[in-house]
Amino acid sequence: MAIKIAVPKEEAPGERRVALVPEVAGKLVRQGHAVAVESGAGVGAHYLDDAYEKVGAQLVEQRAELLGGAQIVLKVQPPTEDEIDALPEGAVLIGFMYPHRYPERVAKMRDKKLTVFAMELVPRITRAQAMDALSSQATVAGYKAALIAADTIDRFLPMLTTAAGTIRPAQVLVLGAGVAGLQAIATAKRLGAVVSAYDVRRAAGEQVRSLGAKFLELEIDAEAEGGYARELTEEEKAKERAMVEEAIVAADIVITTANIPGRRAPVLVTKAMVERMKPGSVIVDLAAESGGNCEVTRPGETVQVGDVRVVGPLNLPSALAVHASEMYAKNLHNFLELILTEEGGLELDWDDEILAGSVLVHAGEIKHAPTRELVEGGAA
Ligand code: NAD
Repeated sequence: MAIKIAVPKEEAPGERRVALVPEVAGKLVRQGHAVAVESGAGVGAHYLDDAYEKVGAQLVEQRAELLGGAQIVLKVQPPTEDEIDALPEGAVLIGFMYPHRYPERVAKMRDKKLTVFAMELVPRITRAQAMDALSSQATVAGYKAALIAADTIDRFLPMLTTAAGTIRPAQVLVLGAGVAGLQAIATAKRLGAVVSAYDVRRAAGEQVRSLGAKFLELEIDAEAEGGYARELTEEEKAKERAMVEEAIVAADIVITTANIPGRRAPVLVTKAMVERMKPGSVIVDLAAESGGNCEVTRPGETVQVGDVRVVGPLNLPSALAVHASEMYAKNLHNFLELILTEEGGLELDWDDEILAGSVLVHAGEIKHAPTRELVEGGAA
């Protein structure tokens, strides 16, 4: 029997992505599933209704009707209260859930006995790479952050040799060399900037250098016995902070991407550092949503401190809705492979560490311990 998979239109302000693009909807249809899409769901990402119809998905005008008949619902953003109300008991819901922001919705999903998988909880293990939506969306954000910086600053990024003289390339510093940071580095390099980067994880150095950027690190022997890296001493840590500060002050563009999962983003750029930066410099703070890596960042705004602009963009993946949706839909499809059986059924194998790690709510219980503590005050 075909599993009924539903895709509602995203309602969150500024959200243009859609959870399923026509290409992936078509794959699911060919696998024998019944895919229903809310009319207009893909419009924000330029996937029009007829493209879904062509691949055999059904278009539904009424959201309540769409959700009421669903066994699996695919979302980008957490469901609204109305969406939760409209879902049948026991339905499976997959998307980003941000439980710390919406604890009351988690409680509602628990009471509705939904099975909810949070894409941000998918373990970062090799087998789960193809369903790692944090990575796919961070790739988009890092790329866009470099473009925003290039677009904001009033100077060239590449070196130019012209009849009107030689233009020196812009100095770009990327703080945090995870998925987003590496993409920001690669993009700034393609634009011709001279790029350097810093990360607390020294292992990131190799990836930074492979992109042709410089990795900021102290020239010390941090190797301990047996070849393992040793902890830096307090004095070395202070030297490292001073080195990063000098790099911030010397840069034309600083792109910050440092995150600590589940916690407020660390402040790497203080107001005093911003005040020391060159006139016309630009900071793009990718951590704006989780408190900001720069002390003066205001989420969703551009703040001017002296002659320095600090941009705090929100939901950058939505700005590249076409590819962000495509990559996200492929992540979801790979995730669905874990729960859809060859015979066209639905099976939840709790011995699978990806399912066990990403389940937020199941059978009336909040399964994710930190969320349970948040919502139920630690009661089991
Ligand atoms: P993230 O978005 O959580 O953080 C971004 C970067 O900020 C990280 O590299 C982190 O080390 C860095 N950071 C944190 N505090 C900092 C500070 N005070 N100063 C400077 N930098 C700081 O990270 P992410 O991009 O999601 O990925 C982080 C790591 O996980 C990377 O090593 C990445 O390769 C790895 N990863 C593994 C898999 C996998 O195996 N499936 C998938 C994705 C990412």
